[in-house]
Amino acid sequence: MDRPAVIHKTASEWRVAPHWNAYEAQRASFSWDAVRRQLEGLPGGALNIAHEAVDRHARGARRHHPAFVFLGEQWRRDVLTYAELARLTNRFASALTALGIRRGDTLFVLSGRIPELYIAVLGGLKAGVVVSPLFSAFGPEPVATRLTLGAGRVLVTTESLYRRKVEGLRSRLPQLEQVLLVGENGAETSVSGTLDFGRFLASASDVFDTVPTRPEDPSLLHFTSGTTGTPKGAQHVHEAALMHWMTGKYALDLHPADIYWCTADPGWVTGTSYGIIAPLLHGVTSVIDEAEFDAERWYRILQEEGVSVWYTAPTAIRMLMKAGLELARARPCPQLRFIASVGEPLNPEAVWWGLDAFGLPVHDNWWQTETGGIMIANAPAFDIKPGSMGRPLPGVEAALVRRQQDGGVSFIKEPGHEGELALKKGWPSMMRGYLGEAARYRNCFSGEWYLTGDLAKRDEDGYYWFVGRSDDVIKSAGHLIGPFEVESALMEHPAVAEAGVIGKPHETLGELVKAFVSLRHGFEASEALRRDILGHARKRLGAAVAPKELDFLDSLPKTRSGKIMRRLLKARELGLPEGDTSALEQT
Ligand code: AMP
Repeated sequence: MDRPAVIHKTASEWRVAPHWNAYEAQRASFSWDAVRRQLEGLPGGALNIAHEAVDRHARGARRHHPAFVFLGEQWRRDVLTYAELARLTNRFASALTALGIRRGDTLFVLSGRIPELYIAVLGGLKAGVVVSPLFSAFGPEPVATRLTLGAGRVLVTTESLYRRKVEGLRSRLPQLEQVLLVGENGAETSVSGTLDFGRFLASASDVFDTVPTRPEDPSLLHFTSGTTGTPKGAQHVHEAALMHWMTGKYALDLHPADIYWCTADPGWVTGTSYGIIAPLLHGVTSVIDEAEFDAERWYRILQEEGVSVWYTAPTAIRMLMKAGLELARARPCPQLRFIASVGEPLNPEAVWWGLDAFGLPVHDNWWQTETGGIMIANAPAFDIKPGSMGRPLPGVEAALVRRQQDGGVSFIKEPGHEGELALKKGWPSMMRGYLGEAARYRNCFSGEWYLTGDLAKRDEDGYYWFVGRSDDVIKSAGHLIGPFEVESALMEHPAVAEAGVIGKPHETLGELVKAFVSLRHGFEASEALRRDILGHARKRLGAAVAPKELDFLDSLPKTRSGKIMRRLLKARELGLPEGDTSALEQT
């Protein structure tokens, strides 16, 4: 069926008047100072995310309002009000302080979406420590790498994750002094070298004076992947709260009565910025589902929890599309009023599917770990061009540029031309550095402009269209995966001489991780060896990161300086032109 290129919006469709309703006028009158005044702050110009997200409401009219509704895998339902969340996070912060953990130390959290994760993140921020949530589907190797890079002093995890992913590597982590374990189904734990989370909390005081962090003090550390080297630790600060408040209002259109569901895991930046902080800053109720994706379950949650604003991801939408419209229509959700999506290109069909399934289009938006918050968005009041990421938010200056030899950039003014997406410095949630990698951080900038590494086009109406990434990083099911980390794990297998990893387009996942390896002398390619290498990678890296496909090659294409040419592997895999191969080593 032919669909029009634009989905027009009219004010008569709005069930709740959108906050952002005059594109240019609100951008023109916008100021970060005005946003700062919406937050309470702490005496002496201090600012702490947890105070703004939790205590401010816990002391006000919303203290008995649910902050979180946690749904367990077996449908257990736990509600935490803002007052309860304040009390539990105070306890966590008190206990952490009693352990000798101080402002500026790093706390890692590795768990599924259980209440303890949220208490630890917010309690840690209260105590002024830097918090780094890790994805629980990571294997032992990515966990150990990140704990080491971040010099984690404390880890909150579950007993089973500890046993599977950390215990065996603990001797490699001398800086990790304290491990707090959450037992399965509330059971107490007693594992040597660890403390029980429940007991730890029970013994602590309900009263805690939130550490008066400065706006520029570090708050969260999110690891992201690059093309080469170890993962990059993007360092964020407490001032990011301004961005989360602003985007919660303009991009997600949060209103006080909303029931909000962000389906992202806090192990990825969306699940923290928008799964924890932004909704709490607005005092709304967030639904948190512990279980993994299941189409029927998701429709049931949308319906039974009365979700009104839903922030999800293209892979999830594609999986819902696969499950069929009947399933969606069997569970009408009249309260749902706004659907947004982030993390990968959102196909136009997925935007339209929203209309077919819920009578609401899906609104794509764009940002990345480094930017800390949503930068470009489709919002409720504005027309959608399906396939476009939308337009820059208030306070956000975007441009398309071409990098030049001398490190400068030239700006592309004409619509319709491809360039690298650049953002003008000055929004509060921009990362303040890559942990321990000053040069890598500096290289992200040209003068006043941050260069995102994404290629895009802009049309005559100012809408941005994603074209691709300028590097080899892979996006699979919304997760950014560094080929280097995967290649390193493959190389540990005794049979592997060389490894090259690419993202191969995939109908549901966006991209699928595909590996190419050449074998060491004495090894023969076989189905059994393929399975063995894939199994090894899965054990080291975890299912979310490990390759799903593997091909054997006699040798991998390399540059004369010995770098594997992933671009060429990809072109050959997809049957695309090989482009410039002048750097190719002749074998
Ligand atoms: P991450 O840092 O893991 O959040 O990944 C950020 C990257 O995901 C961006 O640099 C883009 O390459 C991609 N991405 C995020 N949102 C979108 C979107 N709406 N459309 C296309 N790609 C996106």
